Amino acid sequence: MTMNKIIHFKLDGVDCQAEKGQYILDAAAANGIWIPSLCNMKGIKPHGSCRICTVKVNGRPMTACTTPVVEGMVVESNTEELNDQRKQILEMLFVEGNHFCPACERSGNCELQALVYRFRVAVPRFAFQFPVRNLDASNPRLIKDHNRCILCKRCIRGIKDKEGRNLFAFRRRGHKVEISLDPELAGSLTDEQAQKAMDICPVGALIRKEKGFDVPIGKRTYDKKPIGSEVEQPTVNE
Ligand code: SF4
Repeated sequence: MTMNKIIHFKLDGVDCQAEKGQYILDAAAANGIWIPSLCNMKGIKPHGSCRICTVKVNGRPMTACTTPVVEGMVVESNTEELNDQRKQILEMLFVEGNHFCPACERSGNCELQALVYRFRVAVPRFAFQFPVRNLDASNPRLIKDHNRCILCKRCIRGIKDKEGRNLFAFRRRGHKVEISLDPELAGSLTDEQAQKAMDICPVGALIRKEKGFDVPIGKRTYDKKPIGSEVEQPTVNE
């Protein structure tokens, strides 16, 4: 940081510094403070869609991943009210899909599962929907399990071909919206792209065929330490 680019803000009563233009979530991490998120990932343009990272900026709710720090800003994050709202979002995500952790290949590496533990979700306050959704294994390299997708758009934002075209997109509308692979580009999906898609997905909705995960359940990232132990957000592997 060069001195003239440093700006100052308060986060949960702590005096913090940020680079001009830095988003609150990234600035918080740079100051050693973790703000939870699900749709955010280092290396992918922030989107602000999951709302888990919502903080209060000068008393107003804002998404920390898309709001730049400005001089003198007062930010609240780790409050009872905001943490309960985060817990409610997690509960809604959980009841809205079919998330059966013990049967999921992603267990232990899943950010949704890890946040649910972290925010101590036991019995969701909302009714389970148990929607009827497909598992699409038609692509030779990638399985899409719509039961687990939380519509975070990380795959859409993070996976592009050499010409910059998106491989993934949303199709349908409302409660029927689902992730789809571009029909023209799907056939040329490489092993590397399938691997990257699996790595980018925060849950077990995208699984590379014939490979799966190298590290067994019980020895995975969140099996060893709870989410938020590291303040940095997950990062895209290039
Ligand atoms: S498939 Fe995974 S990365 Fe893509 S939108 Fe669904 S949850 Fe997000």
